[in-house]
Amino acid sequence: LAKELGRNNYQFFTSDLMIRAQHRYTLERNLRRALVDDEFLLYYQPKVSLVDGSIIGAEALIRWQMPDIGLVAPNEFIPFAEEIGLIVPIGRWVLTKACEQAQQWRQTYKIDFKISVNISPRQFQDPKLPQFILEVLLQSGLPAHALQLEITEGLLMVEAEHLSSVFDAIKTLGISISLDDFGTGFSSLSYLQRFPIDNLKIDRSFIREIPENQDSVVLTKAIIAMSSALGMSVTAEGVENLEQMEFLKEAGCDEIQGFYFSRPVSVDSFSALLRQHSITRL
Ligand code: C2E
Ligand code: MG
Ligand code: MG
Ligand code: MG
Repeated sequence: LAKELGRNNYQFFTSDLMIRAQHRYTLERNLRRALVDDEFLLYYQPKVSLVDGSIIGAEALIRWQMPDIGLVAPNEFIPFAEEIGLIVPIGRWVLTKACEQAQQWRQTYKIDFKISVNISPRQFQDPKLPQFILEVLLQSGLPAHALQLEITEGLLMVEAEHLSSVFDAIKTLGISISLDDFGTGFSSLSYLQRFPIDNLKIDRSFIREIPENQDSVVLTKAIIAMSSALGMSVTAEGVENLEQMEFLKEAGCDEIQGFYFSRPVSVDSFSALLRQHSITRL
């Protein structure tokens, strides 16, 4: 872990322990203050086409810049924010910021660029989500096809009556939906039929074991074959080396995301990446 942190261009200073040591109400108060005082920021990790190696988009990943402490990783506060409902305003901030930034990059670099935003179950179940997204698109100027929502399998298991209507509203807007961490949840494949999923994102736990673990190799190939047979695109997350990338390209995976190409980086570093790289011109 120390070695990994050493290679990093930033560090998460905090640990689980620090957050756990806080009373829940202190954490809640701090999160509310963070929203008001603008302590959140977004890092961006490129998604790279396996067809031509170009950057075709990015995933927005939240960080919390705690005063006097440093960058706090999302796993330290997103689950709690989800639990107490604060994820709704935090998620709105993320959507607004990410769409504005993506539109700025599209215009500055004249690229067809897609931004992916993680949406937690509670956010997705908010009946006001589609209307909010529509407003963000209108205000930022980002075309709907340039926005992708990343949801997780767990969401599809809850018996929310309006789940289908949220899906319908989002699809009507022209926004695409990706199933994140695919393969780790309790996947009933019938969900792929019931809901309009555009992209499967193969979980990093499979990619990590490629090529050593034969089961991971077989499962990854099967997910890729299934997604293309069902007309979905497929992304691999957690690609850390050349061997994994070549395997995925050979297997017909559409796009990759992972430390091999780039870690999640700040806005400025991402802009530098866009300047350096061969980019898809509009
Ligand atoms: P995720 O959506 O599956 O995001 C991918 C995570 O994998 C990111 O962690 C990213 O830094 C990490 N990652 C990417 N490539 C590699 C790699 O090659 N190797 C390894 N070991 N890790 C890699 P991060 O940024 O700490 O985010 C963790 C999770 O927090 C995300 O998982 C997502 O579930 C959640 N999250 C992040 N931002 C948001 C947000 O704005 N809203 C919501 N609701 N959840 C968020
Ligand atoms: Mg994600
Ligand atoms: Mg993921
Ligand atoms: Mg994951």
